[in-house]
Amino acid sequence: MSSKKPPGAKGSGKTTGSNVNIEFEAPKGAKTPGAGSKAGAPVKSKAVVPKGKQSMVPMGNKSIAMKQEGGMLIPEGYSVRKIEPAKNYDVMSFARAMNPDFAPRLKKLFDPETEAAVEAQKTGIYIGWRCPEFKHDCQRVNKISKCFCGHLLGEHAKYTGKSIRVPCVQGGCKCKGFAWIPSRPEDVGEFWHQRRRDFDPSKWRAKCRCKHTHEEHDPAGMRRCKISGCSCGHFDSNFLCAACDQHWERHETFFETEDIRVENGLPVGEMYLPFAEMPDLRNIALTGREDDDSQYLALTQGEGSIPRTQGPVGNNAPVNFGAGSSKSGFKPVYD
Ligand SMILES: [Zn+2]
Ligand SMILES: [Zn+2]
Ligand SMILES: [Zn+2]
Ligand SMILES: [Zn+2]
Ligand SMILES: [Zn+2]
Repeated sequence: MSSKKPPGAKGSGKTTGSNVNIEFEAPKGAKTPGAGSKAGAPVKSKAVVPKGKQSMVPMGNKSIAMKQEGGMLIPEGYSVRKIEPAKNYDVMSFARAMNPDFAPRLKKLFDPETEAAVEAQKTGIYIGWRCPEFKHDCQRVNKISKCFCGHLLGEHAKYTGKSIRVPCVQGGCKCKGFAWIPSRPEDVGEFWHQRRRDFDPSKWRAKCRCKHTHEEHDPAGMRRCKISGCSCGHFDSNFLCAACDQHWERHETFFETEDIRVENGLPVGEMYLPFAEMPDLRNIALTGREDDDSQYLALTQGEGSIPRTQGPVGNNAPVNFGAGSSKSGFKPVYD
């Protein structure tokens, strides 16, 4: 087992177990080790920053100027991209310097997924939303995640780790199977809404290309638009997945046991946590503080925890797998 990554080390990119991560890119001229070496490489667009016309994105109490780089619009100073997998260089010190409330924002962004990961560890039922061929989830789903039909997962029928379709049980709802749908603009990379004075997050809905919301479409069958006069025959998302840039329709919600996931090479246990391979970010997602690994330790070492990791599992310890890992196909390589 090789040693842990020194702070500031450029990542190997071999982040096999994690699914959605955020990448920070230093501005030109910033002293980021290795940042220059890939300058010419084509950048796959995983942008969660707006790709539209906005030139200023309000963040906090100040606006951040946007600039064009590599065909993408990114905030002046750095870029925040939800990507898979993560490049893992010294993002923390840089992000902190750029943005003092980075940690609470990151935590808020990932709260639903952190909850989902903790729930999955406790129940042994993993609910993930992804394109069927993926070896990672684009979204970890929990009980209060929203379905296309407009109801929460907890308002659907009881499910197990082997459920194929989990129908809605709310009166009059025709939904035949839970299908995760973004319920926050951040989930589709639209960060600028949050700071609009008149923005009401409870009213935001993911939309179809016909301009009508998912709730205005039939939850079953072809998902035809119900608004009279609209000729839309099936829901056709006007947004892309923040993790993979594919349309919503390409994705499915999967209910799985830990065994099934291990067999299929999907992350389980602590490796299902957001930022599983980046302890600083993982801690922020769990506790809001990069140096607070109490939650992580409670999850991995506490009573009722999953005895997956052996040896020390502090802040910067490399992740080890316990027995049975040979089947998983997830062996993070640190070099
Ligand atoms: Zn429903
Ligand atoms: Zn439903
Ligand atoms: Zn439509
Ligand atoms: Zn419509
Ligand atoms: Zn996706």
